[in-house]
Amino acid sequence: MHPPRFRLAPSPTGYLHLGNAWAFFLCWLAARHKQGTIVLRIEDVDTARCRQAYADAILEDLAWLGLTWDEGPVAQHPRIPRYTAVLEHLVAAGHAYPCWCSRKDLQELASAPHGETPVYPGRCRSLSEDERTRRAALRPPAFRLILPDTACHFDDAVLGPIQLTPAACGGDFPIRRADGLFAYQLAVAVDDLDGGITTVVRGADLLSSTPRQQAIFHYLNAPLPRYAHVPLLLDATGQRLAKRHSALSLRALRHVGVRPQAVIGLLAWLAGLRPSCTPCGMEELIADFAWAALPCHPVHLPPDPLGMLQRQR
Ligand code: GLU
Repeated sequence: MHPPRFRLAPSPTGYLHLGNAWAFFLCWLAARHKQGTIVLRIEDVDTARCRQAYADAILEDLAWLGLTWDEGPVAQHPRIPRYTAVLEHLVAAGHAYPCWCSRKDLQELASAPHGETPVYPGRCRSLSEDERTRRAALRPPAFRLILPDTACHFDDAVLGPIQLTPAACGGDFPIRRADGLFAYQLAVAVDDLDGGITTVVRGADLLSSTPRQQAIFHYLNAPLPRYAHVPLLLDATGQRLAKRHSALSLRALRHVGVRPQAVIGLLAWLAGLRPSCTPCGMEELIADFAWAALPCHPVHLPPDPLGMLQRQR
């Protein structure tokens, strides 16, 4: 049996904060617990939002925390020819189609009474070849993947059995934008497939991406990885961690003298792996790691995480 393969997949759009560290911490432990291989993948497909300086900082911050990897870093931008080949294959096989809906069209469609998630109603799905040729002469299209119209079922290692309808995932979805930029969904699915990733560990905010990525696997006749969607880490008021929590970036914590063992101790306590919040190392958590200890609902940081971490010397 080959060892299972996991990935850490940061996007270099900013410094890593405690919320990113939380998901990577859990991925690392799940991988090491199973003697798996960890691939580090820098998700820089969105060139407009990604910076090399952030990619460099992420490597440093992961290493500071003790989150090692076995392969990589691999980047996405050198893989554009591969994504292009996959797109061409999907279009030729009839699984993806060109779409000329403008941002304004999509907004109008989204404001239609569809409930919470705007669902793309497949407006460009059935255009004739002549109509496509006529439109292509006017402006370049985006490309959308056809989301199968049956519900997607899978067993999540954290959340248990999941069932998501195509409408809950937004219907047919873009895999390449009109400006040529490949979408996260396509790049991630093709990277997971080519990287032989067997377990995808990521935040529960990406749950509705999973049926879309599974559709890509399905069209490419590839076996599906397993999924573990970990609860989001929120601040004490229930807000998602974001750029405004810059004091909780790993970099900022390091600069004010917080020790990596204090961060690990906090994350381990929040994950239900330790009875109290005291410093510890990654290695000592591997043997007893279990998804079952992890809550299924979002996890809240204590009110003053920075003070708490600074006191733990
Ligand atoms: N790059 C994504 C992020 O940083 C994660 C994507 C994934 O794990 O599928 O949120």
